[in-house]
Amino acid sequence: MNDCFSARLEGRVQGTLKKVFGFDSFKTSLQERAVMTVAKGEKDVFICMPTGAGKSLCYQLPAVLASGITIVISPLIALIQDQVDHLLSLNVKVGSLNSKLSAQEKKIIFTDLMSEKPQIKLLYITPEMAASPSFQPTLEVLVSRNLLTYLIVDEAHCVSQWGHDFRPDYMRLGSLRHRVPNVPCIALTATATKRVQDDIITSLKLKQPVATFKSSCFRSNLFYDVQYKELLTDPYENLKDFCLKALGQKNTSGGFLGCGIVYCRMREVCEQLAIELSYRGVKAKAYHAGLKTAERTLVQNEWMEEKVPVIVATISFGMGVDKANVRFVAHWNLAKSMAGYYQESGRAGRDGKISCCRLYYSRTDRDQVSFLIKKEIAKLQEKRGTLKESDKAMMTDFDAMVAFCGELGGRLCQDQIYLRVE
Ligand code: ADP
Ligand code: MG
Repeated sequence: MNDCFSARLEGRVQGTLKKVFGFDSFKTSLQERAVMTVAKGEKDVFICMPTGAGKSLCYQLPAVLASGITIVISPLIALIQDQVDHLLSLNVKVGSLNSKLSAQEKKIIFTDLMSEKPQIKLLYITPEMAASPSFQPTLEVLVSRNLLTYLIVDEAHCVSQWGHDFRPDYMRLGSLRHRVPNVPCIALTATATKRVQDDIITSLKLKQPVATFKSSCFRSNLFYDVQYKELLTDPYENLKDFCLKALGQKNTSGGFLGCGIVYCRMREVCEQLAIELSYRGVKAKAYHAGLKTAERTLVQNEWMEEKVPVIVATISFGMGVDKANVRFVAHWNLAKSMAGYYQESGRAGRDGKISCCRLYYSRTDRDQVSFLIKKEIAKLQEKRGTLKESDKAMMTDFDAMVAFCGELGGRLCQDQIYLRVE
C-alpha cells in the first residue's frame, strides 16, 4: 500500500471517528493501530483486549468506511441487540438476522441484501444463523458479487473448548471462513489465555501472518479481595458494608452515583440475598432464569437506570451489558474457573474509575462446586465413552480458582489476576 493511499485512509478514519462515532480521539494507540490495520483490509486480525477497551470500534469504524458489507457473528441476541441499537442511534445502516425475527422482518433484510445496492453496512448474525441453510444462498450471492468486506467473529473465545463459554455452533465458523478465504477475518476476545488464543487462530483458520493486537489485561482501577465466609460473624452484613463502601457517597437526591452486581450460583440464593440487602438498606433485586422474561427485562432496566443500585444475579446476567459505572462486582459463590471469574468481575469499572471486586469463599461452597464438576465430567464420560483433555481441564481450572482464593484470602490486591490465569 503506497504512502499516499495510507495518508488518505488515515484522514478518512479520523474523520469517521469524529463524524460518525462522535469521538475526538482513539481510546488508546492500540485501538488506533488495530482500526488502521483492519481498514487496510490486507490481513486477518486477532484482537485481544480487556472488556471495556473498545474492541467494537476496531471493526465498526472500518465497516462504515468500506463500500461492501460486514458480517458480524456474535453469540447472544441480547449482545447483538445492544450493538444494533447503538449503531442505529449513530445513523449507521445495520441489520441483524436471528431466530427471534418475524418472517416479515427477515424478508426486509434479505431483500436489501439481494438488491442492486444494499444499504446495510453491518449485518449481525448468531452462529446458529451463520450455519443455517436459509442463510447460505444470501452468503453465496454476497460473495459472488464481491460485496462481503469483512467477516467478524466477536467473543471469539466461544470457538474454544478451553474457553468458559464454549458454543458448538462457533466450531462451524471454520468452515464458513473456508468458503470466503479472501475476505479478511477479524477475531475479537477479552480472554487472554494462550490455549484459547491458539485455538481461535486455528479454528477460524486465520491466515498467517495474522496481525495481532493485544493489550495487557492489567486494569489498575480494579481492586480485588477474598473473604472467607465461614470466618465472618455476619456475611450479609459484610456484603452490605462492602456494597455501601464501593458505591460511595449518595448524590443530593439520595441515590447512589453508581451501581453493582452480586453473583450467586442459585436462584433461591439470589432471591434471599436481594431481600437481605434491601432489608439492610441497600436496595437490591434478583435476576435469574427462573423469572419471566418481562420481569427480567424490568429488573435489568431498573438497574440500568439506577433506580435499583444492586442486581443479585446468576451468571446468565451480564454478557453484553454495557454499563460504565459498575462500582463493584461481588461473587457470593465461587466461580468455576479463573477465566470465568475474570470475565464476570471485569464488568466492574469500565469507566476507568476505582472499583472493587470481592469474592466470598467457603469450604462448603468449594466442595459443592467440586462435586458438581465431577458429576458433569462423569456424565460426559458416560456419553462419550472416553474423556477429552478439555473435560478434565474443568477440574484443573477450578483448582486454580481455589488456589487463587487461598493466596489472596484476606489481602487486598490490585488486579493481579491475569498473572495467574495462564
Ligand atoms: P469491549 O468490546 O472491548 O468490551 P466496547 O467496544 O463495548 O468494549 O467499548 C466500551 C466502551 O468504550 C463503549 O462505551 C464505547 O462507546 C467506548 N469507546 C470506544 N472507543 C472509544 C473512544 N475512542 N473514545 C471514547 N470512548 C470509546
Ligand atoms: Mg465487546
